[in-house]
Amino acid sequence: MQPFVYEALSQRVVFGFGTIAQVADELDRLGLSRALVLSTPQQEDSAQAMAEAIGSRAAGIFAGAAMHTPVDVTEAALAKAREVNADSVVSVGGGSTTGLGKAIALRTDLPQIVVPTSYAGSEATPILGETKDGLKTTQRSMKVLPEVIVYDVDLTMTLPAKMTVTSGLNAIAHSVEGLYTKDRNPIISIIAEQGIAALARALPVIHRDGSDREARSDALFGAWACGTVLGAVGMALHHKICHTLGGSFDLPHAETHTVILPHATAYNERAVAADLAPVAKIFGAASAAEGLWTFARDLDAPMTLAEIGMKEEDLDRAAEIMAQNPYWNPQPLVQEELRALLDDAFYGRKPGSSL
Ligand code: NAD
Repeated sequence: MQPFVYEALSQRVVFGFGTIAQVADELDRLGLSRALVLSTPQQEDSAQAMAEAIGSRAAGIFAGAAMHTPVDVTEAALAKAREVNADSVVSVGGGSTTGLGKAIALRTDLPQIVVPTSYAGSEATPILGETKDGLKTTQRSMKVLPEVIVYDVDLTMTLPAKMTVTSGLNAIAHSVEGLYTKDRNPIISIIAEQGIAALARALPVIHRDGSDREARSDALFGAWACGTVLGAVGMALHHKICHTLGGSFDLPHAETHTVILPHATAYNERAVAADLAPVAKIFGAASAAEGLWTFARDLDAPMTLAEIGMKEEDLDRAAEIMAQNPYWNPQPLVQEELRALLDDAFYGRKPGSSL
């Protein structure tokens, strides 16, 4: 056993079907009676359903959450929270809505109950990314870690097929990097393997039949496991690449993770093949990178940066940004190799083709 340091995060987790009905009890447990319910404009119906479920404990709804937590949206939500004298937030949605709840908690210390409806995993982390004037900054603070997560599988049944796949691969990416990160530990590695295995089982079934309740339940468990990994240990090359492509080139979050994951894995597998062996095994492939690539392809996931909005003329600049501000990664960061990785990802070649 290698030496390690591990600090477990404290969160209450309720998991099941129809658990939206338990949010009222969770508010009562915490002595809260004026919740501001948050959602995106697209999920306002879900916010409405939540407000009905918690009855008089709903102080209001703010259905303006947006991708990458823009600070002006947070300010509008804070004004609404003050107007209705909110004592808590209930966030119903994907990572964008969870991000808004965290941004409010950072500024007010209001307790959060998060009811996730995608597999992004933000609900299990003390991490907040915010954008102001087009710049995305990320911070870690215990102030933003949600107090309670209520997973209701029923609310994920409507997650569209395409987003189910990309969001699921976004989750898998947390666990893949968690297996080789420098501050990994044996408990988190077990959770990472369990998370990947659950999503590897569930996504092909959901891809065929989005109404399969058992597979939806497996996938949501996998998302929690992978989010737990993201919250517990540091990430490396894959997440840094996605941060750069999302922040500087405005690429969509889950799709970017989906396209980059096999390529970043091939880059690092040269250094940490033993740590990634469980991933190769789960996907029944010769390498983790190949297994992830084939898995995504078989689920009709986006396979090229070109198709998700990247411009070829921006690849050089992207590689340059990625090589700046060096950070820990198991394989040395070499700008020409990062450019080769981006090239493979841009054209959708087999991972590692140009390395
Ligand atoms: P999202 O929250 O933006 O959701 C995408 C769209 O899908 C939205 O319109 C949303 O309303 C809709 N949607 C979500 N669940 C649905 C459902 N069950 N049925 C129908 N529609 C549904 O996307 P996301 O990928 O969940 O989250 C991405 C954001 O989360 C990014 O801003 C990313 O940076 C952030 N994130 C943060 C962390 C963290 O730890 N801080 C972790 C992961 C992601």
